[in-house]
Amino acid sequence: MSEDNYLEEDIEKLSYLLNQINEPIVCVKCSDEFISGQTDAKSLQDYSRIDVGFTDRGLQIWCQRHQLNICHINFDGNSLEKDFRCLEKKIDRN
Ligand SMILES: [Zn+2]
Repeated sequence: MSEDNYLEEDIEKLSYLLNQINEPIVCVKCSDEFISGQTDAKSLQDYSRIDVGFTDRGLQIWCQRHQLNICHINFDGNSLEKDFRCLEKKIDRN
């Protein structure tokens, strides 16, 4: 196997570091405002202003715009695997 193939295989194993979201979590109020046309934002992602972070309970997603909880995941005291590495595409400068 060539070096390129090894590299491709390694990147394949890291594909979970790319955007794998298939069920977006959104603020219901932001979503309602966007859908009803109360904003000129191009997308709900553009309109949303969200904080995400770890808490004593687990992980919380917070709407800055409405100062409301969007979702608070309970880790139930477990320490889950976290991966903070960023996978960026190499820019070809030729
Ligand atoms: Zn909101």
